[in-house]
Amino acid sequence: MKASVDADLCTGCELCTQTCPDVFEMDGDVAKAKVDEIPAGAEDCVKQAAEECPVEAIKIE
Ligand code: SF4
Repeated sequence: MKASVDADLCTGCELCTQTCPDVFEMDGDVAKAKVDEIPAGAEDCVKQAAEECPVEAIKIE
């Protein structure tokens, strides 16, 4: 499982970095996924972050 952030959509609200800090971090004004593969145990918070992102910038594949 992998997650990515569309930097063109991200508003930098930092919600995903608070919901799932093991996977998302801020990179200047936008969030980014800091890991390639989502670590075991972080799947649920990644899904929550994707659902809660106000601009639907998080893609999971
Ligand atoms: S929740 Fe969405 S808009 Fe907010 S920082 Fe994360 S990716 Fe960007």
